[in-house]
Amino acid sequence: IKKNNPGWNFDNSYLRLPDTFYSFNDLNPVNSPKMIKLNESLAKDLGLDPNLLKNKESVSIFAGNQVPEGATPIAQAYAGHQFGYFTMLGDGRALLLGEHITPSGERFDVQLKGSGITKYSRRGDGRAVLGPMLREYIISEAMYALGIPTTRSLAVVTTGEKVMRETILPGAVLTRIASSHIRVGTFEFAAQWEIYENLKALADYTIKRHYPELLSEENRYISFLREVVKRQAELIAKWQLIGFIHGVMNTDNVSISGETIDYGPCAFMDIYDPATVFSSIDTQGRYAYGNQPIIAVWNLSRFAETLIPLIDEEQKKAIEMAENTVSDFTKIFRQNWMDGMRAKLGLFSEEGEDEALIEELLNIMLKNKADYTNTFRSLTLGILDEFELNGVEEFMQWKDRWSKRLESQSETKEDVLALMKKSNPSVIPRNHHVEAALDAAQNNDFSLMEKLLHVLESPFAYTEEQNEYVKVPERKTCYLTYCGT
Ligand code: AMP
Ligand code: MG
Ligand code: MG
Repeated sequence: IKKNNPGWNFDNSYLRLPDTFYSFNDLNPVNSPKMIKLNESLAKDLGLDPNLLKNKESVSIFAGNQVPEGATPIAQAYAGHQFGYFTMLGDGRALLLGEHITPSGERFDVQLKGSGITKYSRRGDGRAVLGPMLREYIISEAMYALGIPTTRSLAVVTTGEKVMRETILPGAVLTRIASSHIRVGTFEFAAQWEIYENLKALADYTIKRHYPELLSEENRYISFLREVVKRQAELIAKWQLIGFIHGVMNTDNVSISGETIDYGPCAFMDIYDPATVFSSIDTQGRYAYGNQPIIAVWNLSRFAETLIPLIDEEQKKAIEMAENTVSDFTKIFRQNWMDGMRAKLGLFSEEGEDEALIEELLNIMLKNKADYTNTFRSLTLGILDEFELNGVEEFMQWKDRWSKRLESQSETKEDVLALMKKSNPSVIPRNHHVEAALDAAQNNDFSLMEKLLHVLESPFAYTEEQNEYVKVPERKTCYLTYCGT
């Protein structure tokens, strides 16, 4: 290993899959790479030296101009259902450099997003724009700090080249770190060709990588489906509890590892409303906040279909087993969501009345257009003076019921406060703050972004400096988010 290697330690197990699953691609070098943001704390967690990651060679690697020692860049093949319709896709603007093995033996994909065209680019230019890449950086790091399984962002570099969208914008490349980039769409791709050996190779590879404890199971494939369903149910429950709207839950954006992946048109809900949609292209509200659990079941059904030939030789039996397994989602999701909601309200035990207590609060919030995050923040802090529901008759009655329920527990007020504080973030990446940080960044002022990132690092800290990030602006027009930029 060369002495200026920051610690890269690649092992590219994906290359040992049948070669239908990827393609080798030439690099698409750019003019003048420049580091915009490096995630030093993530770098350290990965066993990489942050200082060496800032040198010229590293910046060149992050821009896709050069390959780090031991890496073999590939674009992954996959398919996917986009807004319900099946399409052949693949990494159209991403390169997987390889899998980095950390000093403690963990394996992570290192992927460049925006690195230029690949075999799967179709009509796209393979490029990405600075604003959306910084947006992915901010929101994925916020999700990580909120305790939600997610891919992470190691670096953003600009390319020195212009990218044509509706206007001309600065090009950028994001380096994404993920447990893997294997998605439901990867399995749909495998199933599409009806080559049993390839499908089995992908399934066995994925089980070994993400669910090794299942290798000794009698029917590892039905167990695999069960575990993927479980992780998705846990993940979507976390999204719902925090008010996260993914925005484009196509099957190619559903990670088999159970991480949140592909931060395009996502956003956090402000006013509580299950019908909330931010994505400009989601005109039918398919991926609205309240639909996310239903869509997850739809996506898992597409996943289950791909596994049928592996689950049992007898197709009818395999389908029945798969259907039963996918239908467990609802129960697991509900349990996780109820547990999370109880924690948000400071409830330690389970009581029959809890469900009604929770549903009623949500109804009051909906009716009175209350801010989702701030409602729970205000309940946590007990500061109801400035709280928008203060004085609303049905809320005051609800509050009495809730107080009685709290008093019926043996836990102390301090216990309740501690539980609520770790269950209700006081700051989330609010749309107007993210936009302001990105606007400034486009003009070479990164101070707002740095401050925002700092505050979002400890969302449950309830510090003074976070107070200015709590306020909600008047929503004059509907906030819109965009994909594919
Ligand atoms: P997404 O909506 O981000 O999941 O992307 C869907 C598909 O479009 C993926 O196969 C992407 O690689 C591809 N894609 C998105 N933007 C571009 C682009 N600018 N050039 C080429 N392919 C792209
Ligand atoms: Mg995607
Ligand atoms: Mg995307």
